[in-house]
Amino acid sequence: MTTWKKNLMGICEECGEDFVKKQQSHKYCSRECGGKKWKRLYKSVVPEGEIYSDVVKKKWELGKQLICPHCKKSFEKKHMTQKYCNKTCRGEFTFNAQRLKAEQKRYVE
Ligand SMILES: [Zn+2]
Ligand SMILES: [Zn+2]
Repeated sequence: MTTWKKNLMGICEECGEDFVKKQQSHKYCSRECGGKKWKRLYKSVVPEGEIYSDVVKKKWELGKQLICPHCKKSFEKKHMTQKYCNKTCRGEFTFNAQRLKAEQKRYVE
């Protein structure tokens, strides 16, 4: 009755176990396996144990005073890729940038 079922057997890319996919796109048998892969990828950028160590702080200039491009207030950089003082500013700034882009596009056309 269930013809799709045979397509839903997969082999976990992390541990190699057979598992039943809940979605066609599933690649891992469990959340842990998916998480491991992700952690490994993340680790390749920042070696384990070095997160927020002096080396990393220096490399990513954590603790440095930055100016938020959105509200122009200064803030302390706490995350490696932080550019805005908070999530709201980041959201609004990217939203405005996208809108500007869309407007420019319309102007050209
Ligand atoms: Zn697995
Ligand atoms: Zn801000």
